[in-house]
Amino acid sequence: MRRELDKFAGYAACKSPEALDEETRALGILKLDANENVYGPSPKVKAALASFDDAHIYPDSCQTELRRALAGYTGVSAEHIVAGSGSDQLIDLLIRLFVSPGDEVLTATPTFAMYKFFTELVGGKFVAVPRDDEFNLVPEKLIKAISKKTKLVFIAMPNNPTGTQIPVDAVKKIIETGVPVVVDEAYYEFTSQTLAPEIDNSPNLMILRTFSKWAGLAGLRVGYGLFPTAVAERVDAIKDPYCVNAAAVVAAKESLKDADYLMGNVRLMISERERLFDALSSIKYLKTYPSEANFILCKVKSRIALQIQVLLERRGILVRYFNSPQMENCLRFSIGRPQDTDRLITELQRIGEM
Ligand code: PMP
Repeated sequence: MRRELDKFAGYAACKSPEALDEETRALGILKLDANENVYGPSPKVKAALASFDDAHIYPDSCQTELRRALAGYTGVSAEHIVAGSGSDQLIDLLIRLFVSPGDEVLTATPTFAMYKFFTELVGGKFVAVPRDDEFNLVPEKLIKAISKKTKLVFIAMPNNPTGTQIPVDAVKKIIETGVPVVVDEAYYEFTSQTLAPEIDNSPNLMILRTFSKWAGLAGLRVGYGLFPTAVAERVDAIKDPYCVNAAAVVAAKESLKDADYLMGNVRLMISERERLFDALSSIKYLKTYPSEANFILCKVKSRIALQIQVLLERRGILVRYFNSPQMENCLRFSIGRPQDTDRLITELQRIGEM
């Protein structure tokens, strides 16, 4: 085993509902901890999966039909597109493609944990520029931190776990430096801001998207990248041939056909995000951060964030707890249906009265 991986802690994924005791599960588990889509896949996707009969056949390693369908959805031609087993896999592949041991990967923190995870896995150095007090990325600070060793810059747009958006023009300034920039648009459908129109003319721009959030396919693992053709060719060459499984391909293609229906659910979640934001803002012990994603981050004003997470869990509601130097006593709530918001707010108000 590589000795340098002895200290590698692994990604702290959310607790599975299966790990909860029966009494709690009997309350009905409300999973608001992993930014999943509470509405799930479209009924047409479920029907296509129910009649899926190709489990014994390897999927098309060239992803021909999926990439063609994605070209229609994104307006970016198929030679720029590669699909992966979730956008997580594409983060991994890009880092393996660009970063050698000792090279730097730059980002603004707090941000999505997998950038650091995969950087350290290849022996790269993770360079973190702190966001400001409201978790905004400060482009000038990021640009200043670019060094000769910087091989990739990651920008989550909007950012997870904070929900903070960054204006397109600010990202363009970073792209203009010429350094390879990965814009992670995992929550694109919840915000509509995108760098996709720049792909054709930006040889150093890479965009990542996913079916996990807007299409409700987190469990099937399918994401895609919009890359300069030279990068798409290299990513295609280093990916394992069957990285998107055949059922996921069926579900993704069917989701694209049923995008209007799925975007209806996205609109419901966006309006629920506004309602949850107002409700959370009215709770005195919480400071709420504006979000353009499918979740809202709050700072708990006293040091009881962990207790709140535990109390909510006992009531069947799973939420995400953060406590790092940049994110002390924070809780992140994924957006649910209107009844989920009501249940969460009732419990948070009850805790406030304790
Ligand atoms: N990027 C960001 C910013 C995310 O929040 C997530 C999921 N939490 C991902 C990428 C990974 O998504 P996927 O399910 O496609 O691997």
